[in-house]
Amino acid sequence: MNSGSGTTNSLIASQSEVHSLQLSAVMNNLPGMVWLKDGEGRFLAVNKAFSNAFSRGNPDQVLGRTDVDIFPPELANESIKNDQTVLKSGKQISQTGYLPIAGRVRLFEIFTSPVFGANGEVVGTTGYARDITDSQAAEETLMAFSEYMEKKNNEVSNALVIAEESTRSKSEFLAVVSHEIRTPMNGVIGMTSMLLDSDLTPEQREYAEIVRKSGENLLALINDILDFSKIEAHKLELEVLDFDLRSTLDDTIDILKLRATEKGLGLRDRIDPDVPLLLKGDSGRVQQIITNLVGNAIKFTDSGDIVIHVGLESAEPDHVVIRFGVCDTGIGIPATRRSAIFSPFTQVDGSTTRKYGGTGLGLTICKQLSELMGGQIGVESEEGKGSTFWFTIRFEKQSEDPLADHRSAVIHSVAEEIVAPPDLRILLAEDNIINQKVAQSLLSKLGYKADVVANGLEALKALEQINYDLVLMDCQMPEMDGYEATSLIRDKSSAVLNHDVPIIALTANAMKEDRERCFRAGMNAYLSKPVRKEGLLAAINEVMTTSHDNA
Ligand code: ADP
Repeated sequence: MNSGSGTTNSLIASQSEVHSLQLSAVMNNLPGMVWLKDGEGRFLAVNKAFSNAFSRGNPDQVLGRTDVDIFPPELANESIKNDQTVLKSGKQISQTGYLPIAGRVRLFEIFTSPVFGANGEVVGTTGYARDITDSQAAEETLMAFSEYMEKKNNEVSNALVIAEESTRSKSEFLAVVSHEIRTPMNGVIGMTSMLLDSDLTPEQREYAEIVRKSGENLLALINDILDFSKIEAHKLELEVLDFDLRSTLDDTIDILKLRATEKGLGLRDRIDPDVPLLLKGDSGRVQQIITNLVGNAIKFTDSGDIVIHVGLESAEPDHVVIRFGVCDTGIGIPATRRSAIFSPFTQVDGSTTRKYGGTGLGLTICKQLSELMGGQIGVESEEGKGSTFWFTIRFEKQSEDPLADHRSAVIHSVAEEIVAPPDLRILLAEDNIINQKVAQSLLSKLGYKADVVANGLEALKALEQINYDLVLMDCQMPEMDGYEATSLIRDKSSAVLNHDVPIIALTANAMKEDRERCFRAGMNAYLSKPVRKEGLLAAINEVMTTSHDNA
């Protein structure tokens, strides 16, 4: 015996055995079914998964047989067709199909590939089938879920559109209602002020004062609602003009000083030196926010000082962000209520017996306005110690005007020689609440009081009821502007009591054409905003003298 060759043979035998074991290990550990067929479709090898599925775990029942022996006719035909295709083309094909496994039909992904002989000819086929029932189901569930989500998304978008529309129409309704309420309210206030000018017993005077005060409170509330609803309905337009931050702050403090002093509170401002003063923006709306915040500070503070601080938040070549802070030493706000107070109709003390009046709209409007002007609003507060309300606004920087200082100096020197004519009954037509307040405070410094209306239509109605001595007329107003109102006042067929009443135009536009347009409409003088006390006095003097000369 040749032990050497015996060793070699047993080595060869064990090598092929090892190969076969390795191969079946690979095949049997695959989760899917594997098979090998010769060119006639006879099974040469199958893995465990296959024999488990089709021959109760016994591969011998399958080997040497064909599809027809193993599968139901339809499946067998399908399989034979696949094999033929692969044998002919020499290329792998893949498809999905249902196979009956343990009495249940499951979905499979099936790959059929050619097996090549030593000369490259196709000698058989091999297959691999993977159960994809679960992943298919998962995919279908996922698809169904994504369709569901898409549907829900559409529903939500539609609901949002409807909600926005309904907010808008609600806000428009509010705007119309509050506007309609304001017209008769102006009548009430106008007539009460006439009553106050007449001979009254002290008791009657007290009653009439209360009527006027209540009317003014109601008007302020209506104005808040109107502003709020205008912003909600996206109907508020900013009036972007050049302005001087210093004089805007001075005007604002002028309006508020009396109220602070009456409560024994100090009110002052501090502007950091690096804050640019010549800016471009809606100064009226900035004043509105400050007035609101300082008004609250006065309301909720019993002693101490209120300080308005103005600082530079950031600066770019053509714009700046300015931070305004209103700091008080009042009752403070509990941490849990700090974010809620910026929502409409919300107050820290929501009880019906609360000590402080108000609508809970002020801060909401401030928030809306500061956001509209590219900023934010917030509050820092300590209960019992005080609060600092802050807001930021983005302004454009003004192109420098070297004549600006000189111009105001000229007006100033002229004005000093003028004395105000006494006792004028004045009607102010101005839609912007802050501009109303500024004009009223200027007039009161000159010793006058004015009745206020918010547009041309209201002005006409007022002039039909009361014989005013003078009208201050804003040019741009909603409903009916100042030009049209003036033409109708001058029109002899209109119902106003005095067609020749002197009218001073107040306008944000400082162009020559605007001045001419005012005179063409029948106005007697023209003041561009911001209106200063001296300019106003000079204009009043001018129109009153001319109207006397003409009379
Ligand atoms: P209101 O008209 O009620 O004052 P606001 O929106 O201006 O409406 O303010 C909402 C609430 O926020 C106030 O009712 C008050 O509870 C609280 N609040 C506002 N400002 C201050 C402040 N400076 N100090 C303390 N509480 C304040």
